[in-house]
Amino acid sequence: MPGWVHEIFASIQGEGIYCGQAQTFVRLAGCNLACDYCDTSAAREPNPPACLVELVPGSGSVVEIANPMAAEQVTGYCRELARSVVSITGGEPLVQADFLERLLADLKSAGFVTHLETNGTLYRTLAGVVRLIDVIAMDMKLPSAARDGEHWREHRRFLEIASATEVFVKVVVSADTTEDEIRRCADTIASVDRRIPLVIQPVTGPETPSGELLMRLQDAACANIADARVIPQCHKALGLR
Ligand code: SF4
Repeated sequence: MPGWVHEIFASIQGEGIYCGQAQTFVRLAGCNLACDYCDTSAAREPNPPACLVELVPGSGSVVEIANPMAAEQVTGYCRELARSVVSITGGEPLVQADFLERLLADLKSAGFVTHLETNGTLYRTLAGVVRLIDVIAMDMKLPSAARDGEHWREHRRFLEIASATEVFVKVVVSADTTEDEIRRCADTIASVDRRIPLVIQPVTGPETPSGELLMRLQDAACANIADARVIPQCHKALGLR
């Protein structure tokens, strides 16, 4: 089962509790949501004709490889980039369920640590691959930032399944985010395990919240869960992808 891959490149992880770690990123094509603050909108195209592959880490120089690609082909490029951690991102990686399972299994047999970055909605698909994932970075989409309504029920089911491995939750906040929305995130986490970390990530750009609002949002989360951290997008500050 080949898959549709948007790009493969090496960088420094810029988000979440593994911020600063050297990783290879495999960005799969396609997504099931349409968020206001999507910063990877090109990756939402489900069938890109070619994947952009970086061959020398950090060079930014890429070659075009025809899609769809075999899992073993993707693993081979990850070997070339020589990072021990491979983060599979998107788009939404779980929309390509069969290919994702094959890719994760191949990466694990090649000795890589596997991370999955996901919008936290496709819980049935997650159940089939969670055994192959070392770390899950799960987004919670706030109703104020998602064009297609609330996802609290899917997020809760997703988190229950994700908690079989290491998981943390990330929520993107803007100047319009309310304490009630963050309380809802924290309540959802606490209903599964209050020790699961929550990363509050201010949106980059003109909508970024004030420091005072970020502290109020963090206090609202900490009322119900053990660990809520404010971490901005560090890769953008460093001029990295
Ligand atoms: S889930 Fe991610 S890739 Fe999909 S629209 Fe939202 S931000 Fe963009």
